[in-house]
Amino acid sequence: TTVQPAPTPTTASWPPGLPRSLDYPQVPVGSILRAAVRRWGDRTAFLDHDVPLTFTELGARAHAVAGWLADHGVGRGDVVAVHIPNCRQYPPLYYGILLSGATFSPTNPLLPAADLAAQLDDAGATVLVTWDQVLPFVRGALAQTGVRTVVVTGEAHILDFAARIDGLQDDDVDLADLLAGDPTDRHLDAGVDVATDLAHLAYTGGTTGVSKGVELPHRQVVTNVLQSGCWTSGSVPALDEHGDVTLEQVLGADECPTRLGEARIINLTPWFHAMGSIGYLNGMVMGGTTTVIHMRFDPGKYVEDMVRHQVTAIGGAPPIFVALLQVPGFAEADLSHVRGVSSGAAPLAVSLIEKMSALMPNATIGEGYGLTEVTMIATGNPSFRSGVRKAGTVGVPIFDTEITIRPLGGGDPLPAGERGEVCIRGPQVMRGYAHRPEATADAIDAEGWFHTGDVGVLDEDGYLSIVDRTKDMLLYKGYNVFPRELEEILFGVPGVGGAAVVGRPDDEAGELPVAYVVRKDDADGAALTAESVMAAVNDKVTPYKRLRDVRFIDAIPVSAAGKVLKRELAAREREAVGG
Ligand code: AMP
Repeated sequence: TTVQPAPTPTTASWPPGLPRSLDYPQVPVGSILRAAVRRWGDRTAFLDHDVPLTFTELGARAHAVAGWLADHGVGRGDVVAVHIPNCRQYPPLYYGILLSGATFSPTNPLLPAADLAAQLDDAGATVLVTWDQVLPFVRGALAQTGVRTVVVTGEAHILDFAARIDGLQDDDVDLADLLAGDPTDRHLDAGVDVATDLAHLAYTGGTTGVSKGVELPHRQVVTNVLQSGCWTSGSVPALDEHGDVTLEQVLGADECPTRLGEARIINLTPWFHAMGSIGYLNGMVMGGTTTVIHMRFDPGKYVEDMVRHQVTAIGGAPPIFVALLQVPGFAEADLSHVRGVSSGAAPLAVSLIEKMSALMPNATIGEGYGLTEVTMIATGNPSFRSGVRKAGTVGVPIFDTEITIRPLGGGDPLPAGERGEVCIRGPQVMRGYAHRPEATADAIDAEGWFHTGDVGVLDEDGYLSIVDRTKDMLLYKGYNVFPRELEEILFGVPGVGGAAVVGRPDDEAGELPVAYVVRKDDADGAALTAESVMAAVNDKVTPYKRLRDVRFIDAIPVSAAGKVLKRELAAREREAVGG
């Protein structure tokens, strides 16, 4: 069999002066922070409710957190779960965990108690950092887990790291105690093995829909932070005088929308997600960017802060941009200061790109594609001004990354123009799924290719387009929704004889979860209404997973092999919305 080489990206996608391959220093993630503190010092790293945190303070508080953890027996091999929204205390906590040598395991703060307990148990977390408002509900979930220490924070700490959290029990620890510790760098991470010690243990549904822990050693995290940071700022990795990793700008101001030490952004992307922790949290610290934190999305406030802080770049999942375009006054605002817009997590409609370009004339709009299993990013449309951005594609493979398209049932790579499963090989591919060797072997083949479960096509110039997903997953505003979870709840609703959940295309949300339900031939079945079914399900799930509609049907279509023909139902939904 002949192996079809992937098309090589054209020079137009890669400006002269930027190498195609980078040198990745073998340092732990804490090295990013150390170099940033020295280099960016008194510059504001994060701003929340207008309260600044400088790089110097960030470093001091992170070392204090690391020291507290070490003094309480937490270090290499231990997992600290972080169950809080984006806030000013998150960055020192994140780096503190990594500087102690422990593993950072983020969780969605909206995760229902049962899911949270299952995740903490699977991760083997012994420390949980949570938010005061959800504490009563979290406490109930901890009995079935190995969590020994519960650290609590809340909005009080945004304004004052020394404030005390109300209503704590004797065993609870106030995050103030961690933040107030000795700021000396004790080099607790000196013994970290960057190839094997996990920096992140991040949960995702992967290709099967069962939530699995993605193992990302320090090496993968540092590598992908560099791959994405160099891509957006036209830089190459460099070491400072202490051997810590930083960036050296090689493309000039005219070429690059993001200049090191000058950028200001608003960060909405959750740091519990790959795009948040790798692209935003680490990427911005490394680049000396000032990050304005928005914990919740308020489109009006977002636009107001864009102007007030003269932000140079914005980014996130496409639904954010849809919402911004609807803010009164957005079209009239002077947004000439915005030089870069980056989008990821879900497809970005071409019409949306055109509207954004018209309103932000100086911005290059780059789109990236990746998954938790490749740390974060694998491909991107160039953000350099001279690069060719093909709207509707997710760009070309970034540094040291290969993409091939293979037949869905397996086999050798397909030529340009043919659709198949997107496979990725590169230094950012995860080590594997935590204690799931079979799932890992299914996902990463013997030659190191990660099989994504996404259906895509490469064009003659090496640009990738994502056309479909083979895995049973919906994307609601960039969040993963697994139909199976909703179906399992549906099957337990009295009167439901059969059920299948599919996505309905929606301009604003991407996809809305919609259930097809077969009534049982009994009184319960006869009594079902769309509202009663939605109420029964939606009470039990996180808001973003809620069913938005229910359609009754005589029978769920199944294939000869007994597989539910989701495609058929999804096609009906597309037709219904005229897509
Ligand atoms: P996660 O692991 O949560 O980042 O989800 C990864 C999945 O999001 C991928 O497998 C894709 O299905 C989808 N995805 C990520 N980026 C894009 C993009 N730019 N366009 C289309 N789908 C995307």
